[in-house]
Amino acid sequence: MTMNREGRPTAAGEAEATAHTTFTGNRALQIEEPLLFEIGQTDETGVDLAEPEGLADRLGGLGRKAPIGLPGLSEPETMRHYVRLSQKNYAIDMGVYPLGSCTMKHNPRLNEKMARLPGFADVHPLQPAATVTGAVALLAMLGDWLKELTGMAAVTLSPKAGAHGELCGMMAIKAAHRARGESRNIVLVPESAHGTNPATAALIGYKVVPIPGRKDGTVDPAEVAKLMSPDVAAIMLTNPNTCGLFERDIVEIARVVHEGGAYFYADGANFNAIVGKARPGDLGVDAMHINLHKTFSTPHGGGGPGAGPVVFSEALAPFAPLPLVRLDGGKAVLVEDAANSSSGTPFGRMVAFHGQMGMFVRAMTYMLSHGADGLRLASEDAVLAANYVRASLADVMSLPFGNRTCMHEVLFDDTFLDGSGVTTLDFAKAMIDEGFHPMTMYFPLVVHGALLIEPTESESKASLDLFVAALRDLAMAAKAGDVGRFAGAPYFAPRRRLDETRAARQPKLVWSEPAPAAISPAEG
Ligand SMILES: *Cc1c(COP(=O)(O)O)cnc(C)c1O
Repeated sequence: MTMNREGRPTAAGEAEATAHTTFTGNRALQIEEPLLFEIGQTDETGVDLAEPEGLADRLGGLGRKAPIGLPGLSEPETMRHYVRLSQKNYAIDMGVYPLGSCTMKHNPRLNEKMARLPGFADVHPLQPAATVTGAVALLAMLGDWLKELTGMAAVTLSPKAGAHGELCGMMAIKAAHRARGESRNIVLVPESAHGTNPATAALIGYKVVPIPGRKDGTVDPAEVAKLMSPDVAAIMLTNPNTCGLFERDIVEIARVVHEGGAYFYADGANFNAIVGKARPGDLGVDAMHINLHKTFSTPHGGGGPGAGPVVFSEALAPFAPLPLVRLDGGKAVLVEDAANSSSGTPFGRMVAFHGQMGMFVRAMTYMLSHGADGLRLASEDAVLAANYVRASLADVMSLPFGNRTCMHEVLFDDTFLDGSGVTTLDFAKAMIDEGFHPMTMYFPLVVHGALLIEPTESESKASLDLFVAALRDLAMAAKAGDVGRFAGAPYFAPRRRLDETRAARQPKLVWSEPAPAAISPAEG
């Protein structure tokens, strides 16, 4: 019998496990779950009560004539279906979730409690402003803190994610150029940028010109200067960048960009590395989105909707979109139309209403419960945790830009796997067998076989130590030529290794009823 680290008996080894099949296809309490349509039985649900006399047609002749094919399930069947599905979903509440760039940090439960207060959770966007003064005051307070932390002049809260915030910031830049009578058509984007940056620029009609990276993984102001022309509208730059490195020449880059009459858009998705340490406004940034769901812990991915407020410099503030929150005699007021906007000429609006109220409450709660010193400490701990992982693995994995201090995430490449027959993908899949969600793979594109790890400040030293030990063990196994441990991994996941490319290229989005003979319990 195999024992785990604590000396307790573990599950059967792989050989033992595969030697046993079960009648149901279930693996112990890991229960197979068919689609709702496959388990639904319309003839077993519903009520059977005769129509009362004289009320035969309660729907005025609009009742359905034929079934529409919805699955019929009892409440316990429905409950079990969704609970089982939820248990198949790996989450930050279950274990380490080291996705670089994504900042999967713990969402404190206090955030949830506050977001569920009826005065926040149950407000309706069409309610008269006089009945939601508390909620509007929260918007004002959050906006104020975002400006304070970033050193920027104005804020718009409404964009619903980081990418949406990028769009908002870039539309303000476009409006600013238009107001100057200019029609610049180029946006400079470093090669290492997140894919949303060039996508945003292209979406609103800009031509994207890539900035080649320096050997050390950062952007060289001289390269930016070479690419500057009267057609350049803006640069989009992430700091710390997607390699987890601080752009040391950011002030000079901002100077070069401004000298050429262009604006500096900062992708603020990595703001969680510098909160309380550096203010983008002091670095020359004109517009930046903040992923509340990354930096300020609100749930995201499968767990929540995210929010991407944008902060603006004095130069771009007049173009910030509606709605805005203005302070009027000590009271926060929502400004809904341009005529009431004392501040300038808003370019329009990003959303129908005001944005993600639930995320605003969670982010504000996170800020209030940390305080200014706690927010700074969170950034410091995030950077410390990433550097702990870097230093602990530098001898067995490979660092593309040398063993230098990183920010909140550490980037490895696949050089350490050279000649082992193991790829980045194999390595990541083997982590699943060890009980870890893999890190971000193959991003950024500027390094070969990238493995980007962002542990965040939420992980304890003990949890980082176990994570590091597992990665060390895998790296040593790969170097020792134990290809079998990787080639078919994950061995212990319910669905083994999936053909992700085919799933993405040929997604099956419509369920059609299989021939009756094709349904057997073992196939699930
Ligand atoms: C997450 C991220 C984005 C996009 O943010 P979403 O909220 O997912 O739209 C953009 N840039 C970087 C660097 C990111 O990490």
